[in-house]
Amino acid sequence: MIQTLTIIGVGLIGGSLALALKEKGVVGKVIGAGRSEDNLKLAQSLGIVDAWTTSLSDAVKDADVVLLAVPMGAYEAVLQTIAPALKEGAIVSDAGSTKQHAMAMAKCLPRSVSFIPAHPLAGTEKSGADAAFSTLYQDHLCILTPDESTDKDALNTIESMWQDAGANVVHMPADEHDKLLGAVSHLPHLAAFALVNAVNKQKTDEFDPLSFAAGGFKDFTRIASSSPEMWRDITLANRDVLEEQIDILMDELQNIRVALQASDKDRLTALFSSAKDARDAWLAERKERQNKDKA
Ligand code: NAD
Repeated sequence: MIQTLTIIGVGLIGGSLALALKEKGVVGKVIGAGRSEDNLKLAQSLGIVDAWTTSLSDAVKDADVVLLAVPMGAYEAVLQTIAPALKEGAIVSDAGSTKQHAMAMAKCLPRSVSFIPAHPLAGTEKSGADAAFSTLYQDHLCILTPDESTDKDALNTIESMWQDAGANVVHMPADEHDKLLGAVSHLPHLAAFALVNAVNKQKTDEFDPLSFAAGGFKDFTRIASSSPEMWRDITLANRDVLEEQIDILMDELQNIRVALQASDKDRLTALFSSAKDARDAWLAERKERQNKDKA
């Protein structure tokens, strides 16, 4: 049971956690904090928070647990603002998509406070308090990236919090997290943004490809509707990994281009088959894991 939980950034991620914990009855009071009064008022009217303030210091002064659910680019300013206001023994955690950056920014917190870096692998392309829903984390992974200095009791509290929200918690080193998520989450977002731009920039008065786009285009590009500011911050915070990932994707596109230029049917079939086989195997493995978790 967390007596007082403060959520800084009551959007999809922070709002969904508050709703899940309230539904389970494992949180006393939830205080919302952020920049937008309208969003915080909406969060209260939706029952996500019990009280709210735009003063981050006021919001955290009585909190047992503080969850940062703001874009990565806001971490430095938010953590430096709350650091002097936190009570002794408070736990600060986050839900940000890159973990080495989060841990570096949290170095400004006082020694009397614990920081537990976390990343729930759940989300949608929607933003704000009205996008939040209590089952967002159900049966999704939540990765915690403790290091040797992490307080074990605080780690247990945050692990239980995410489990109470329905998530399956795993631990891994922060650099491994950033590399893995760079490949399976950040790169697909970059590819989706680039693909929509690549198609859209071909539009002229006589030629409008988007008006003929159908299901395949919609499936591939759903995540290009995600918040541009949030993704700007994530990609900057994981820049080194992503430069490498972009090179890997460009190599793959180049392989297809070379095979096309040579009208190399076998090579094209091999390239497409290896992708199809890998995706089919991943889907089958995922299904088996989900069935096992349910059993
Ligand atoms: P969101 O836009 O729905 O919510 C973010 C909230 O933070 C908004 O209410 C906004 O008003 C507030 N905010 C922005 N800047 C602020 C500042 N400087 N000070 C105080 N409040 C501020 O975004 P979200 O999808 O909930 O994402 C929040 C975090 O969770 C991000 O760090 C993101 O990387 C991470 N995350 C997102 C997803 C996803 O799929 N959306 C998944 C996992 C993790």
